[in-house]
Amino acid sequence: DRRYSQTRCKWSLGTTELNPHSKQMPRSIPKICNNVLDAIGNTPIIRINNITRQEGILCELLVKCEFFNPGGSIKDRIAKRMFDDLEAEGKIKPGMTIVEPTSGNTGIGLALNASVKGYGLKVCMPVKMSKEKSDILKALGAEIIRTPDEDIFLDERLYFKVAEDSVRDDPNCYMPGQYLNPSNPLAHYDITAEEIYDQLDGNLDYLVVVTGTGGHLTGLSRKLKEKIPGITIIGVDPLGSIVHDPENIEIGEYLAEGIGGVIVPRTTYDDLVDRWYISDDQKTFDYSRKLIRYEGLLVGGSSGAVFWAAVQVAKGLDPSKRVLAIMPDGVRNYLSKFVSDRWMIQNDLMNINESKMIKIQGK
Ligand code: PMP
Repeated sequence: DRRYSQTRCKWSLGTTELNPHSKQMPRSIPKICNNVLDAIGNTPIIRINNITRQEGILCELLVKCEFFNPGGSIKDRIAKRMFDDLEAEGKIKPGMTIVEPTSGNTGIGLALNASVKGYGLKVCMPVKMSKEKSDILKALGAEIIRTPDEDIFLDERLYFKVAEDSVRDDPNCYMPGQYLNPSNPLAHYDITAEEIYDQLDGNLDYLVVVTGTGGHLTGLSRKLKEKIPGITIIGVDPLGSIVHDPENIEIGEYLAEGIGGVIVPRTTYDDLVDRWYISDDQKTFDYSRKLIRYEGLLVGGSSGAVFWAAVQVAKGLDPSKRVLAIMPDGVRNYLSKFVSDRWMIQNDLMNINESKMIKIQGK
């Protein structure tokens, strides 16, 4: 059942009768924030120096570090926007319980809003997602329902089905529904893309993005294609996901969290992607570890997939070109996973040169 892949989004960015756009977020962090939600956004763009030398890259390679958001990921932005829009539409109010299917980061973003504004929160999260994420959610007061990992043949047990079922008969519960909710790509179309345009003075040749709900891929690509004619959008999807190729039935497992999937969400407009790169766990975690080791950037797993693709793109470009890759979350979510040498060895992912070093150090 690929219901979500059959129909493309009905809504359209920028052409609805009621103007859906909002730029409520401050363009700079205030000197004193009223609460933690004011600290969302305005994340730094950082130049890659050592890895470009190692890989023989001549062009400028930049990363936008979304793990600087207070909840630790790019999803803080959409959680705030969904809360703000739903409150403005009168669909939710303090005292209600928000229910959401999430790979964890949207849950953490929603939990920041729920804590500050006085809501309950219940998240449905596949078992594959890290214990770190569920511990953080628990500390933020969320109830967590662990669901089986995505499997197209077990549709009724998918995490978004479980979330939908639990709000159906309860008027005190509401599901923002990041896989369908226009506020998700709009957060990036209205704010993140404008931020990037300002930070780079409109000077960008390639944008490299990974996709989960497709929210940031869609919002960023749409706005930056409007503002920067000639920009090339590179989409990154893990081997085993069908997002880059919905007709593909070779669904496979991978360890990277929060990306790809067995459906194409309505929040993804993959016709905005000029070229897809297909990552795998080895490339993903090798490149996350490289960013940490050689650039001091404490990124998460999906960042490695995006960065691996960005390196492949950048390798063929001349010095006048500029490439930007979006780093969705940080290492805090994966301390027991890819940053642990033991976990890498257990999963047969430890790079041969790195394992030699560990043996020498261990002697
Ligand atoms: N990386 C990580 C770690 C994520 O949690 C997510 C969101 N599931 C993504 C990438 C993809 O972001 P989006 O939902 O905007 O496609």
